[in-house]
Amino acid sequence: MKQLERTPWIEVVSEKSKEVTLKAVCTKCSTLHSFSVSTDNFGQWNAGSMVQDAFPDLDKSLRELFISGICNGCWSNLFGNFVKEAIEK
Ligand SMILES: [Zn+2]
Repeated sequence: MKQLERTPWIEVVSEKSKEVTLKAVCTKCSTLHSFSVSTDNFGQWNAGSMVQDAFPDLDKSLRELFISGICNGCWSNLFGNFVKEAIEK
């Protein structure tokens, strides 16, 4: 396995001819998320493309995790708290 320099919370589990399997650990809650992307798309991302350009078909929550290292559940918690605070003020 190799850790990615741009996104240290993501590791490459396996690289096949058509598919790269990745493992992402949320930097907030440490939940492990495994997902696969196409080797072509991964190559584009490695070459410097933005996540949304390199992985247009990837689930939105996984793209967020890819970009920020924060999973969907943690985003909901953050957003939930933010909304609650806004209401209480
Ligand atoms: Zn999380």
